[in-house]
Amino acid sequence: MNKKVLLLNPPGRNVYVRDYYCSKTSKSNYLFQPIDLLMLTGRLALRFEVDFIDAIADRIDEDKCFNLIDALSPEVIISLIGAVSSKEDLPFLERLKKEKRCIVVSGDVTLENTKEWLIDHPFIDAVIMDFTSEDVIYYLEGEDEVITNMVYRTKEGIKDARCLRSENEEFVLPIPKHELFNSKNYRFPFVRHKNFSTVLTDYGCPFKCSFCVMSTLGYRYRKVENVIEELKLLKKLGKKEIFFLDQTFGINKKRTIELCHRIKEERFYFGWVCYSRVDIISDELIKEMKEAGCHTIIFGVESSSEEILRKYQKGYNKTQIEKTFGLCKKYNIRTVATFILGLPEETHETAMETIEFLKKIECDFASFNIAVPRMNTPFRREAIERGFIASDLEVLDQGGSFIAMSTNHLTIAQVEELKKRAIKEFYLRPSYLWKRLKAISSFYEFKEQVYEGLVLLRCL
Ligand code: SF4
Repeated sequence: MNKKVLLLNPPGRNVYVRDYYCSKTSKSNYLFQPIDLLMLTGRLALRFEVDFIDAIADRIDEDKCFNLIDALSPEVIISLIGAVSSKEDLPFLERLKKEKRCIVVSGDVTLENTKEWLIDHPFIDAVIMDFTSEDVIYYLEGEDEVITNMVYRTKEGIKDARCLRSENEEFVLPIPKHELFNSKNYRFPFVRHKNFSTVLTDYGCPFKCSFCVMSTLGYRYRKVENVIEELKLLKKLGKKEIFFLDQTFGINKKRTIELCHRIKEERFYFGWVCYSRVDIISDELIKEMKEAGCHTIIFGVESSSEEILRKYQKGYNKTQIEKTFGLCKKYNIRTVATFILGLPEETHETAMETIEFLKKIECDFASFNIAVPRMNTPFRREAIERGFIASDLEVLDQGGSFIAMSTNHLTIAQVEELKKRAIKEFYLRPSYLWKRLKAISSFYEFKEQVYEGLVLLRCL
């Protein structure tokens, strides 16, 4: 009999998004397929019997989840864990631990001082440091000598088997088992159809924005044909929309154009959404993306202050931001601009300038986040050195349900107030509301946008 492996998104009091070394309280109950677990399924299913429970999506409480797991009786549990919810995740995992059951975790909270973290949590057996690698298979089959990105217990003690992250390497992944991720409660505000899936065509990010954990993961990308195989499966499963979760879609222009061509050739007719950067989107690239079904791009604009953009190594300026938003408009691609308010250099003036700037670039949606000193980032190290946070601060929420630090010039309450003001000034303009209404193309979109609107109003 094959070993039984359970992939688990553990229960929580709130709707938590814990994936890809980030964790947050979902702003409006949006929740997509947890990518770490999804990416592991293809590999695991080749050797083991794989089950999946998403206790967050299916609103399963702790006791019910515990009973479900008891009935499945897996030998191995691979669970997500998050800085936002570690106070709930850890006791639950401790409860699940049995003498012959192995507990493996993946999540942001484990990225720093991992060895010490494992010493503090003796019921956890191992930590996955790259969910696209084969390490977890080697680990479960006892082939320790080839593991390159895990930290785990051995008879001799804890072994930190992390090597230097690879850069610019092509890889192939056994096709993820999307059929296991069938909760009706997955939703994402920028897709245009309820029946969507999440796909990752690469791993990490080669850019070096100092507040972002992706810059610490190295960068690898999947072969185009490997991605196409996955899209074929999704077509068979009847999916209509794809959320490409690459942190910067389009890094390698040649490869991206090849992917777009193959998507067109295969006649998938998916609509899709992705994250990208303003300095890699060109006229040629966006045209190809549009023709392959892209209808929305999410850009990290962060701030309109050139000083802040430089300080946090964004690598682009306001002129590039304006130009790319203009290009998206030309090709009728919707834009989402994400902002970070409350970085240490933020003043009332820089925040107000940012609010004016986002109206100027005429983005279709804006998302306002508060600076979070995420684990293992240069920004966190600096925040500790400068005394903005304590070095043992672990509970963090990228969703902004609480703010971890003040700035050089603003208190936490002032940052919170500026965020509310930004939401009001952007979303409550009559011209904006009219534009949004006119752009709605389906009943699903109408429902989603009304829901999002009500959630935003609740934040004010
Ligand atoms: S480009 Fe985006 S994903 Fe990459 S390091 Fe910068 S913020 Fe992170």
